[in-house]
Amino acid sequence: MDNQPKENLIKEIFSWKEKREAIILAHVYQPDEIQDIADFTGDSLFLSQQAAKTQAKVIVFCGVQFMAETASILSPEKIILLPEIKAGCPLSDMAPIEKVKKKLKELPKVAIISYVNSSAVVKSLSDYCCTSANAVQIVQTIPAEKDILFIPDKNLADFTARKAKRNIIPWQGYCPVHNILTKEDVIKVKKLHPQALLLVHPECRPEVCNLADYIGSTRGIIEFASNNPAKEYIIGTELGIFHPLKKNNPNKQFFPASEKMICKDMKLITLEKVLHSLKKLEPRIIVPENIRKKSLKALNRMIEIT
Ligand code: SF4
Repeated sequence: MDNQPKENLIKEIFSWKEKREAIILAHVYQPDEIQDIADFTGDSLFLSQQAAKTQAKVIVFCGVQFMAETASILSPEKIILLPEIKAGCPLSDMAPIEKVKKKLKELPKVAIISYVNSSAVVKSLSDYCCTSANAVQIVQTIPAEKDILFIPDKNLADFTARKAKRNIIPWQGYCPVHNILTKEDVIKVKKLHPQALLLVHPECRPEVCNLADYIGSTRGIIEFASNNPAKEYIIGTELGIFHPLKKNNPNKQFFPASEKMICKDMKLITLEKVLHSLKKLEPRIIVPENIRKKSLKALNRMIEIT
């Protein structure tokens, strides 16, 4: 890929986007310059819903594998491109299908909820999908006598169990980016900014969530900070979120709870790779039809409830 100036690269991306009748979707953990060229930015479910709604034939999904898979499950007729095929999700990888199947043999009667951050094949074995924004709501629709297995994030499982007042069997996975944030990190930053409200994602550890003024999805965090009169916030989620937070709230101040909260997989997407995807229509994400149909059931159950 030649090293052309950024403006030329962006012009070329837009020209190929038109030629391909494509749209670009970018998660808020993406690099700033990728968020800036996107037609829509947001969390994984919002982006997949946009993918399903759009008339565009080609979707360039700037995110990680499970997100592009979800878009493909919801819109099999469209071409779903993931500009860097190696952009995976270590949390999703913590629930490999063989281990999930083994667990289900041990617990044959449980209701299975899989977080949207799981592979298509894990979703296909699930009764319901959920996001960090609707996990509590989904759990509340499951009869009280039914045991629940929650895959793959143990911290989100803990948050959901406490909120919904239900016993949940957690899969022992975690997001390395959120789990890295410790109570001590937060206390240190709070001392530096005593007026700031602490907003964290529920993938953070329970002891971190206990210190928060607000716990919610990326979209929840953005909405909370935009609608709240407070001027200062400490943010406990991936650092890409600072881009929309600052853009939407130029008069407010945002401080990271930890500078370490960077998702390396999310940062693998570059402008050059987006251009390459549009030109070559690759790498393409296709979920095999038998898996797609089963995962769609779990996703649709979630969409109907929320
Ligand atoms: S931030 Fe965590 S959950 Fe999100 S893609 Fe990265 S590793 Fe996966």
